Order: sequence, then structure tokens, then C-alpha cells
Amino acid sequence: MNTPNLYVVATPIGNLQDMSPRAVQTLQQVDLIAAEDTRHSAHLMQHFGITTPMLAVHDHNERQRSDMIVARLQEGQSVALVSDAGTPLISDPGFHLVAAVRAAGYKVVPIAGPCALVAALSVAGVATDKFTFMGFLPAKTSHRCQMLASIQALTHTHVFYESPHRILASIADMLQVLGADRQLVIARELTKTYETVKAGTLSQVQDWLLADSNQQRGEFVVIVHGAKTPESAAMDAETDNLLQVLLAELPIKKAASVAAKLTNHKKKALYERALWLQGKV
Ligand code: SAM
Repeated sequence: MNTPNLYVVATPIGNLQDMSPRAVQTLQQVDLIAAEDTRHSAHLMQHFGITTPMLAVHDHNERQRSDMIVARLQEGQSVALVSDAGTPLISDPGFHLVAAVRAAGYKVVPIAGPCALVAALSVAGVATDKFTFMGFLPAKTSHRCQMLASIQALTHTHVFYESPHRILASIADMLQVLGADRQLVIARELTKTYETVKAGTLSQVQDWLLADSNQQRGEFVVIVHGAKTPESAAMDAETDNLLQVLLAELPIKKAASVAAKLTNHKKKALYERALWLQGKV
């Protein structure tokens, strides 16, 4: 490649067939690949016949290596950045490098592709109009609970990454802080042989994890539904029963509108509740 750009290249999160032709071509054509772990990425490069030299750029050397990479760009070379899996910078190194390259006036080009949080959201069936990506929860229970308490009342979706050795502890803390009835979806081993997407309340999902140690293995994205809005939380079982009866006979919009005439609740809130009752959010 003749242009001194930095290409930020997404790589598979499990299934090698998710590697895009553009990603392969870019990695073949650049002068240098900055990789989070060169030994790990060597397998990927070998699989796709990529022989471009690699340089390790990870959390511990990123600032110093950024200067080296900017110097390469100044010499007219092109560089690609990859992480161990998925999209670099998403809970992965690369932020300092990208900032340094942009500050030096060079173009940073995304070679878009797999990302675990997006893959998980795309299959979870949870509201995605607004969500917060929280990365990994803190390792210490006290810090984890503090963090969870800070999002407890927020009504939008929250997405976490989690590792196999902390999944049970994190779910236990979520149950304690967010309540046993909070809905969530666990997306495990996405794009791999044992891909599993499990939805339920925190208490149901905890039971499911405890019942089968195989489900505690691998990589996880945890998607937690937002807190119910004050209005929907105030809706009692009686309103739910009424909505269920109406929903058996009417389309959602009509059911919400009739329920609004029979209760003190607003039509919009009843509509959202009806969607939720039907498992559509
Ligand atoms: N940059 C990556 C991305 O674009 O998703 C994320 C890197 S982060 C260090 C690794 C975490 O992402 C894992 O611990 C897990 O929480 C999540 N993850 C990565 N691959 C996954 C997969 N195939 N299925 C579920 N979660 C995955």
C-alpha cells in the first residue's frame, strides 16, 4: 500500500470465516502489522497466508510503540493494527496509537468486522435504541457492586464483557444489586461451536449456569435489560392481566389504547408493557 495510513482491522471472534476479504487484503499489503500478541496473531496470519512483519503493541508498550509507528508513517509506510480478536480498541489496546497517529496528521481507516458486543446485541432481542457498553466489570466484588449500584435505576440496556472465571461471581452480584427478577441475556462463545444465547431473569440464568458447568466456560457477553420505567414499574399484576386478556383478542396498539381507557396508565407505557409481556423487548 502506497499511502501512509493506519488501518484498524477487525478479525474474527471465533469463526475464521468471518474474516473479510478486505481485512485479508489490507493485512497482506501493509508494510507492518501492529498486533496485541504477535504469537496469537501468527496463527491467523498463517491461516490466510499473510507474511507481513508484525510488531507487538499491547497495554504495556503502546505509548512508546506509537512513536515508532508514527515514525514509520513519516517514512511513507502503511501500518495495520489488529487485536487478539474482534475490533481493536473495544476492550482492547489501540486507543493511544490511534490518538497519536491522528494527532500526527495521518489518516486512520477502519476495516470493519466482528465485534462481540455488536454480535450479541444483534441476537439478544433486547432494546438497542440506547445502550451503555461497560466493558469488563471490576474484579473486586465491592467495586463491582458499586458499579452495578450506579446503573441500577437506569432504564436503558447495559452490555458487559465477562470471563469464565468471574461469570458466576458477577451474576451473583448482579442478582444482589439489580434484583432476582431483572431480565438479561447471556451470549456465550459467539460464532464458535458451543455458541449459546440464553435469556431469562437473573435468578433463572444463575440457576441455569449452576446446573451445567459447561455453560460457565468460554467467553461471555452479558446484556442486562434496563430498569423498568417508573410508570411500567408501577403497573400492577391487575394491569398485566387486563393487557394479557386484551392482547389475546386485539393487536398491541389497540390493546394498549383500550387498556388506557380502563386504567390510569398512559397509552405509551401500556404499549411498551404489552411489547414486554409478549417478549418483544
Ligand atoms: N475486541 C473484542 C471485540 O471486538 O469484541 C473484545 C476483546 S475483549 C479483551 C474479550 C472479551 O470479549 C471476552 O472476554 C468476552 O467477554 C468478549 N468476547 C470475545 N469474543 C467473544 C465470543 N466469541 N463470544 C462471546 N464473547 C466474546
